[in-house]
Amino acid sequence: MATAPVQDYLEQLHAELAQVSGGTIADYIPELTRADPNWLGIAIATADGHIYQVGDSRQPFTVQSISKAIAYGLALSDQGLDAVLAKVGVEPSGEAFNSISLEPDTGRPMNPMINAGAIATTALVRDDRAPPLERLLATFAGYTGHAMDIDTAVFESERETGHRNRAIAHLLRGYGILESSPEAATDLYFQQCAIRVTARDLALMGACLANGGVNPVTGVVALKRRYVDKVLAVMSTCGMYDYSGGWIFNVGMPAKSGVGGGIMAVLPGQFGLGVFSPPLDAKGNSVRGIEACERISRDFGLHLFSVA
Ligand code: GLU
Repeated sequence: MATAPVQDYLEQLHAELAQVSGGTIADYIPELTRADPNWLGIAIATADGHIYQVGDSRQPFTVQSISKAIAYGLALSDQGLDAVLAKVGVEPSGEAFNSISLEPDTGRPMNPMINAGAIATTALVRDDRAPPLERLLATFAGYTGHAMDIDTAVFESERETGHRNRAIAHLLRGYGILESSPEAATDLYFQQCAIRVTARDLALMGACLANGGVNPVTGVVALKRRYVDKVLAVMSTCGMYDYSGGWIFNVGMPAKSGVGGGIMAVLPGQFGLGVFSPPLDAKGNSVRGIEACERISRDFGLHLFSVA
């Protein structure tokens, strides 16, 4: 992608997408309904550290399920590949994010991008250096280049209403996939989902993944290089809820979305893309976020599997 016209392109794209309507704001907890449906932020961070951004690219929102990709990388770093694979598979489920997609015999969740797999993954974030929440926040800070915090209202409300996630955690404990307290695992998972990010942050997080795990602005190692391909692989196959197949077919980039309205997409070796627009489609993906990524992929010929 040539760099000089990128800002102009993004301004134009933003103006066009502002006209796109449709979708509904997540309302499973009241805090999320406070989002303005008109918010629209788009940012691109290149693997050599240039950042382009338009619209509400600095508007904070909760990262929600995009955190699953980051936590997966951290769990791999903490436990190694085999230990993580023993607890969480890498097969797309084709089912909704909150489905109870466990292998019948072992109880192993299908993949780390559905809630069951994410709760099991988050429970694997542990080492001797610091408590898991601190490590998660520090890891996010490595990706974004600044200190991170949690939206406590969203966290408390998730915790208050998260019966299904809690039930999943207890099921995982029953199978021995979780080896410690299901309550502690869901608390950490709810906190991780409530971390506040911006579209700019998502672009930089994507740029770290595009750049072999190294933050291209700060030089900090956000993720060990040897796990970058694993994180991008599960994002490619499972990152966009039950639209993951359609997404990789149409857009052709690893990505992860969240019900806060964010999408983080990655073109390996090239850039990270962050889009934020709260109205969601029926599968939980940002309507304008998907449209933005489809257009960027098409307009610049970025589909990973294209040989043209
Ligand atoms: N905290 C949400 C949940 O687990 C995350 C949903 C999402 O972004 O997919 O229900």
